[in-house]
Amino acid sequence: MPEPVIIGSERSEVGLPAGMDVLRRGGSALDAVEAAMRCCEDNLADHYVGTGGLPNARGEVELDASVMLGSSRRFGAVGAVHGFPNPISIARAVLERLPQHCLLVGEGAELFAEENGFARAELLTDEARELWREQLDAVARKELADSVEGENTAAVAGDHRYRAAALDLVRKFAPHEGPWGTINIIALDASGELCVGVSTSGYPYKYPGRVGDSAVPGAGNWCDLRAGGAACTGRGELSMRGGTARTIVDHLAAGQDPAEACRLGLADASTLPDDYRAELRALALTPDGRHGGAAGQQGSVYALMTTDSTEPEFRPRAVL
Ligand code: ASP
Repeated sequence: MPEPVIIGSERSEVGLPAGMDVLRRGGSALDAVEAAMRCCEDNLADHYVGTGGLPNARGEVELDASVMLGSSRRFGAVGAVHGFPNPISIARAVLERLPQHCLLVGEGAELFAEENGFARAELLTDEARELWREQLDAVARKELADSVEGENTAAVAGDHRYRAAALDLVRKFAPHEGPWGTINIIALDASGELCVGVSTSGYPYKYPGRVGDSAVPGAGNWCDLRAGGAACTGRGELSMRGGTARTIVDHLAAGQDPAEACRLGLADASTLPDDYRAELRALALTPDGRHGGAAGQQGSVYALMTTDSTEPEFRPRAVL
């Protein structure tokens, strides 16, 4: 039987100890991923996941999450969910309690969450609201500078202007600076089960209703016990178009080691024409406990814990 291990993307170190506690007690990979991810979703300092996540262009926090099991390839996901702080648990509930479906979005996902006893909460923190306002102001300032003197200056600032030209505004919002990105967590339990979990508040200032790769099987999340599990962080539109998590697992199945499989998956996505060259990152874990990651930049790491770890350790990712 394999030694349990849990790995995660940058900032998952907040949750990995909770996941490893589950695995040490003989718990399942699914329980470990959920426990670890909930800590990340509840981390107010993290502006890419759960409570405190950066909002969409309209200033509303919208969350995506998924879980996938390697043995059965069962998949549960939610997209564009408002008002529930732990979408990973709702995704798990879809997987376990709604076997006729894989993915619920928006109102339907919120209805399902309510019916299943999940509590509502305010997700937009003051700090995240402030970051969004700064973006609005920056765009408005630029508009003012570009506009003909005196022309419609009152209308260019704020939400009203946004509603009049939403797509244009979304295009102008700059990605958030600082530690960024969706959280990926992959666990292997003592029974040999693999589980991949992904959770995000998505591309900051995204168009309302936009669902990213974190909720889409094969894009941001894929898990197949015959070869391994993989997950992505970064520009979800690229990993959706590239089927990147699935591509990485295909490379694992073909015999590549996890870091090289991730690198090849990212290399494939990087061939796609895209005006928004935001970075993609990837992580993979095999059923025999080998792991690796890749990123577009030097210096990227991923976190991991084994049963011997006292705290999360970090490993470099291969560079594309
Ligand atoms: N992958 C996320 C998305 O596209 C965003 C990110 O990780 O930066 O929603």
